[in-house]
This record gives sequence, C-alpha cells and structure tokens, in this order.
Amino acid sequence: MARKSIEREQNQHGHRYQWWEPGKVNICLLCGTAEHRNGKFYWAGRWSKVEPPCGSSEKAQREWYDAANPDDEMPGAFDAYKS
Ligand SMILES: [Zn+2]
Repeated sequence: MARKSIEREQNQHGHRYQWWEPGKVNICLLCGTAEHRNGKFYWAGRWSKVEPPCGSSEKAQREWYDAANPDDEMPGAFDAYKS
C-alpha cells in the first residue's frame, strides 16, 4: 500500500519524489529511487520495502543495495528511466 502524498513529501531521507507517468511510479529527482504503488522502493536495479537513502550517502546506499532484492519483476525499468 503506497503512502499518502503528504507522507511521501515528508520522507526522512530528503527524497524529492515526482510522479512519472510512463512508469506509473513516483521517482526521486535527486537519486532516481522509484516508489511503486505496491509500496516497494526500486533503486539501481534492486527493490526493497525499506526506503533507500538519498543523494550521496554512499555507505548507506551500499548497505541498502546489499540488503535489497534483485529486481526480476520489472527488468530494465531502471534503464528505461535513465534513457
Ligand atoms: Zn532520492
């Protein structure tokens, strides 16, 4: 279950989410994290129910990545955003 938009705007990591129509997801303008409507967060080809850190918090992002799940539900989704 996705969060309400007010909760999304006040996220503790400083993500700046914006609705991205082609992917039907909220994407952070700063780091590319995608919040899907099922409540999962996608970043760098992985997903988790835990929201990843934002910006250049490299150590925390690596820890999130290591703990997250490989994204085989939507292969190429991250690539589509990048292009
Ligand atoms: Zn972000």
